[in-house]
Amino acid sequence: MSLDIYKTAIVTGASRGIGAALVRRLRAKGLTVHAVARSADALDALKRETGCVPHALDVADRAAVVKTFAGMPVDVLVNNAGILAPAGAIFDHDAASVDKLFQINVAGVINFLAAAAPGMKARRRGHIVNVSSMAGLMISPGIPVYAASKAALHSLSQTLRIDLHGSNVRVSEIAPGRVKSGMHLQMMDDPKAAQERYYDGLRCLEPEDVADAIMFVLAAPERMDVTLMEINPTDQSYGGVNYHRAQG
Ligand code: NAP
Repeated sequence: MSLDIYKTAIVTGASRGIGAALVRRLRAKGLTVHAVARSADALDALKRETGCVPHALDVADRAAVVKTFAGMPVDVLVNNAGILAPAGAIFDHDAASVDKLFQINVAGVINFLAAAAPGMKARRRGHIVNVSSMAGLMISPGIPVYAASKAALHSLSQTLRIDLHGSNVRVSEIAPGRVKSGMHLQMMDDPKAAQERYYDGLRCLEPEDVADAIMFVLAAPERMDVTLMEINPTDQSYGGVNYHRAQG
């Protein structure tokens, strides 16, 4: 297997975590990598380390995304940028946090598809990887709106294959379980408490594990599209039944 058919990639959410690990791997394979995130300093550090091309922008800003990337002959688009929200029930989420989750986790992906997918289709060459989450495939108490945004991304990924049917463009959805990237520190007011709650003593995935899985997907033979890959920590499982026993 090789990545020889691909020369240029865009990775969103590249300033840290899974995205930064993936930029390192793609650069090591010789691809030109456009690294996208809001943190200019972190992207500049990654540029010095890897030689990637930094783009400090918000994926939710459709005008900036289209201005920067529309018309660029890109082979690989990895929609990886995403945020979590403070833990809570559906009805605990305020309107601003709901809007922000969907603007980044869903509209941000659509913005990059608008910029890159038509060119891939016209050139009959390309690979789109959407990083969703197991939260979008399972019932996910505690993170319901995040889960809904990732369920939307699951739906988009499935339909995108139909929109691109016959174009030779591959669409792959990667759905990880818990990754120790630091992302969960957004879920509580006290990052130290979140560290203890979500990471300490738990054998989570590392960002590099997911980046390696994406590299496998990208390097598969062109006739093969890994359409959905679930990647979970060995120690994490899902399911169960809640039953309320009526009193009296
Ligand atoms: P992370 O370390 O928090 O990284 C998130 C990345 O997204 C950062 O580079 C961040 O950069 C970028 N980002 C966030 N909002 C952005 C925006 N508006 N515009 C541009 N970039 C933005 O998290 P991660 O764990 O690597 O997560 C990567 C992806 O995997 C996400 O989509 C996440 O939902 C998904 N995922 C994570 C886990 C997990 O357990 N960690 C599990 C399943 C799925 P800036 O802040 O600099 O913009």
